[in-house]
Amino acid sequence: QALSEEKSVFNRSANKLKYLSVAVNALKRLKNQSAAASKTPRSSEEKVDVTLMNAPAAAQFSDSCLSADDTAFYESLKDYILSDERMIENNYPVQHPEKRGCAALFNEKKPNPDPLKRICCRCGSTYSVSQSGKHVRKEECNYHYGKGVKNRVPGGVETRYSCCQGVMGAPACQMFKLHVHDSLSLEGFVSTAARSPSDAACPGVYALDCEMCYTVRGLELSRVTVINSDVQVVYDAFVKPDSEVIDYNTRFSGICEKDVAGSSASLEEVQQTLLSFINADTILIGHGLETDLCLLKLLHGTVVDTSVVFPHRLGPPHRLSLKHLTAEHLRRIIQESVCGHDTAEDAAACMELMLWRVKEDGKMKR
Ligand SMILES: [Zn+2]
Ligand SMILES: [Zn+2]
Repeated sequence: QALSEEKSVFNRSANKLKYLSVAVNALKRLKNQSAAASKTPRSSEEKVDVTLMNAPAAAQFSDSCLSADDTAFYESLKDYILSDERMIENNYPVQHPEKRGCAALFNEKKPNPDPLKRICCRCGSTYSVSQSGKHVRKEECNYHYGKGVKNRVPGGVETRYSCCQGVMGAPACQMFKLHVHDSLSLEGFVSTAARSPSDAACPGVYALDCEMCYTVRGLELSRVTVINSDVQVVYDAFVKPDSEVIDYNTRFSGICEKDVAGSSASLEEVQQTLLSFINADTILIGHGLETDLCLLKLLHGTVVDTSVVFPHRLGPPHRLSLKHLTAEHLRRIIQESVCGHDTAEDAAACMELMLWRVKEDGKMKR
């Protein structure tokens, strides 16, 4: 049976990536069959933590953790899935009403009136670009990434930047070679596929987090990490942006040119791999996941957003940071690393926050 299954997978696959995707689906189907037949719990040894960061693109993905039994967790999470209205309010990408493969955003930024000018999203300067989006002049980008915080001092109040503790007006603490802009392309989107009505298997629960970099066309994906409900990494890939990179955003992402140049997949390959195990009913968890879905160019309607589940007391648009939520509810300090955010750490924090929340609700059906 194994040989004939493999042969049919091979016959349906034009390339290695397609083979991977078809094989994963076949394995899921077979595992669900045998799980339904035997109902014996899987041993924990079977679950393997896989972070194959240096493997070729198509192999950066493991199916070994995919079939964790998420049924009870999935049911408990249903109460937290964002409604269509909340998705629109929170600026999630939705299918463009007319253009296929394009997304629409409720709060889309107004297009720049001058196509050869950009406004730097870090320092606020206006700069000129050529037709291809490249800088006309090399101008340094200097700014404070923190905000001004007022402090009482003897004799009055002073305002200091939260980034470097410099007094308001002090020289910038961040220096970059070039200005950058943060537009997001709304083209090239793919939708997660509807499940067949006969598919009785649990559609699964995953948390994800992305990193981005600045290119001549704005923000693009540079890394994506997906975590399953056992808080193990099931997919982790560096992604080569489609456009020329201006700034790898290394200070915040920890990613540099070497990471992306070495072993990276294209956005399209990443999309295909994600679509092989995420369908329209799969619950995706993230903190402010709208940006991640825009970077992945993924249209997906079954989302749990920890920034909405744990709201700020002042209401939107205020949001509590993931760092704050993790410290408060999980008693853990994250994002302390000096080399930037860790996507696996952030995605794991989102998954654990929701595991904590449903346990707290007493809704987890045993
Ligand atoms: Zn500063
Ligand atoms: Zn700038």
